[in-house]
Amino acid sequence: MIAEARAAIEASTRIVVMTGAGVSAESGVPTFRGEEGLWRNHRAEDLATPQAFARDPLTVWQWYAWRRSLIAACRPNAAHRSLVQLMCRKAATTLVSQNVDGLHEQAASEAGRSDCRPVLLHGSIFRVRCIECRNEREHREDIEATSLEALPHCPACGSLERPAVVWFGEILPRDNLRRALEAAAAADLCLVVGTSGSVYPAASVVDTAIASGATTIVIDPAGTGFDSGATLKLSGAAAEVLPLLVR
Ligand code: NAD
Ligand code: ZN
Repeated sequence: MIAEARAAIEASTRIVVMTGAGVSAESGVPTFRGEEGLWRNHRAEDLATPQAFARDPLTVWQWYAWRRSLIAACRPNAAHRSLVQLMCRKAATTLVSQNVDGLHEQAASEAGRSDCRPVLLHGSIFRVRCIECRNEREHREDIEATSLEALPHCPACGSLERPAVVWFGEILPRDNLRRALEAAAAADLCLVVGTSGSVYPAASVVDTAIASGATTIVIDPAGTGFDSGATLKLSGAAAEVLPLLVR
């Protein structure tokens, strides 16, 4: 199956890659589902919503401060690095990611290929956006989520800022989603790495590639929503399987 997948990649000219939380699992970034997704008995689904932030911004920011500190200590793994190599070898590759951890970007910059950027569907955990004027900026400093006053505030208008990520029930950045869907519709090969396929509309990018006839390879140790539509399913960890495909 590895040989078959390698041959399919070699033969392809337009590739779309979709990654999810699983591509960063071996870097130590916790996924949302399962035990490690729990924080002080809150479920991610109850914190990552605009309603939760409107009700209790301090608690939501405390959760993000904790996640940011975990992610800041994580490094890209062999899966992130292999995808940079793939983008170097096959110029017509579009990398689309649901991740907010910045590890694809970090792998690219460590390889001296900062141009190999992912199309982000769910934003970045190291960016913030003003809730009033919507001004957005990078923000990597530690957050002392001890009081409302201590939370990040907009340099332009002084209002409270929120994490610049897409929460449950919010719309995705329109241009990025359009770019991802266009790449999927035009792709002859689709690589799906570490995503359960349960979060829409992100999952519709893979659905589009499958519907357009792309050879679809799913890399995930568990079952995913894409398995039945896939040409090949490689049941394994991304950091082990991807280097075998791209080497
Ligand atoms: P998900 O939790 O729904 O699915 C993760 C998938 O990764 C599962 O199918 C799991 O079997 C698989 N997986 C686990 N370990 C793996 C490994 N070593 N190699 C390959 N696959 C592995 O994640 P999702 O589909 O990305 O959706 C969750 C949502 O949560 C997304 O919207 C995302 O924005 C957000 N999220 C992001 C991060 C991050 O940035 N790293 C982390 C958690 C959640
Ligand atoms: Zn503002």
